[in-house]
Amino acid sequence: MTLETSFPPGLTVPVLTGAARPGLCTDCGVSRIGDGRACGRACQFIKPDYPALERAAHGRVADPARGEEAFFGTISQMHRARLDPPAAGAQWTGITTALAAELLRQGSVDAVLTMAPDPEDRWKPLPVIVTDPDALAQCRGMRMGYAPLLSLLEPARAAGHQRIAVIGIPCQIYALRALEAELGFARIYVIGTPCSDNTTTENFHRFLALLDADPDRISYLEFRADFNVELRFDDGRKARMIPFLQLPISQLPADFFPMTCKTCVDYTNRLADITVGYMGGDGDQWIISRNARGNEMLALLGDRLQTAPLTDKGKRASAVRGFMANTERAAGGMPLRRMPDWLRPIVSFLQPRIGPRGLEFARTRVEMKAIETVLHLRRAHPARLKNMVPAHVWRLVAPYGLTPAADEKSAESAGGASRPLAPAAKQD
Ligand SMILES: Cc1cc2nc3c(=O)[nH]c(=O)nc-3n(C[C@H](O)[C@H](O)[C@H](O)COP(=O)(O)OP(=O)(O)OC[C@H]3O[C@@H](n4cnc5c(N)ncnc54)[C@H](O)[C@@H]3O)c2cc1C
Ligand code: SF4
Ligand code: SF4
Repeated sequence: MTLETSFPPGLTVPVLTGAARPGLCTDCGVSRIGDGRACGRACQFIKPDYPALERAAHGRVADPARGEEAFFGTISQMHRARLDPPAAGAQWTGITTALAAELLRQGSVDAVLTMAPDPEDRWKPLPVIVTDPDALAQCRGMRMGYAPLLSLLEPARAAGHQRIAVIGIPCQIYALRALEAELGFARIYVIGTPCSDNTTTENFHRFLALLDADPDRISYLEFRADFNVELRFDDGRKARMIPFLQLPISQLPADFFPMTCKTCVDYTNRLADITVGYMGGDGDQWIISRNARGNEMLALLGDRLQTAPLTDKGKRASAVRGFMANTERAAGGMPLRRMPDWLRPIVSFLQPRIGPRGLEFARTRVEMKAIETVLHLRRAHPARLKNMVPAHVWRLVAPYGLTPAADEKSAESAGGASRPLAPAAKQD
């Protein structure tokens, strides 16, 4: 395989070959690595085994009796946090890329596998191998789309890298963990971000065009925990906040979000050593370190990492039920029940003030995504429920009356769904 370097030294862009698989596939890279059977062993969309992989990665399975683990997976430490000073160009404050840069700087790894923006399209992820900690600055920020992160494993090994770090979204990290034991690296540090509602970069450009008259100047977009989408521009314009309820969602085609992301079973990147997101951060970032390796990485940031107590406000149950009713209608092909236009600004004003915040916001989103998974699979791929839906997802949807039918149950899901929901679950 040829290695091409069009970026500065320390950031390599391997030429990747092969293709994604048809059907439920996010092109994580496994289908491109030469072993035609690897997808069968590695894919989140075929027959995932979270308990076995949690045991291998974290030494134990997430325990719903430990409160938040029912929602977010195995936890060793959980923080509201920010990097001080924040890193320029980061999606939030840059904790994710700072962890990887520190691993390189300390010599804990030889290379980091992650995404940079494609030079032709800043919203398109481009898989890269980084060996210079300063070059990670170029990888900061969020891109929308899929790119074959794991096809970097072969060129990384060919380049002689034995200890690597991988930054990835949950469907990529599931496949990495499933194959980890057979990959032959001496050490892999896994840094994950949560992920939801991804779509193709092409589709995402259509969304940007609905948000602004000059979409090419949008340099940043984030769905914030205060129920606003934030847009930043590179033409000197002030950042714009658009309340979720005023987004032009109804103008998007029904297939805007691919079935993969509507039926994804892992929001919080349960198999990463450390998950860095924002959902539970109430305006800051949100970190879940899941094991000793995650704790080791966190310690590398020293005083640059400022932490604060996690917050937990509001009640989620009615918001989740409303979401479920709308998802049922959408999955059944019926028009959504829309809020009258006059009411939208009022609810948009109230949402950040009285809606769920902090950990309750994160629980809200995790439950919504689990509900979406079950409802969409029931409509589009009913035969897949049995093997594809893990116990942690059935547990999340059980309070809303969704339980597996006899032919939807695997041995693992049946055991998990019957266990009690964590005490932290607040119902109104
Ligand atoms: C499609 C998508 C959806 C997300 N949804 C949520 C969410 O619902 N809730 C939540 O809490 N967090 C979500 N995140 C994570 C969030 O956007 C931030 O990446 C995270 O909070 C880390 O911020 P940071 O400043 O520490 O990251 P930075 O230091 O800026 O680093 C970001 C890292 O993410 C990598 N990256 C960017 N785009 C992609 C991509 N498309 N695929 C793979 N890797 C990528 C970059 O290469 C970089 O390594 C999502 C991320 C993506 C890519
Ligand atoms: S393992 Fe990766 S490449 Fe293979 S089918 Fe699944 S998402 Fe696609
Ligand atoms: S929502 Fe799930 S399936 Fe879609 S890109 Fe994110 S992790 Fe992968």
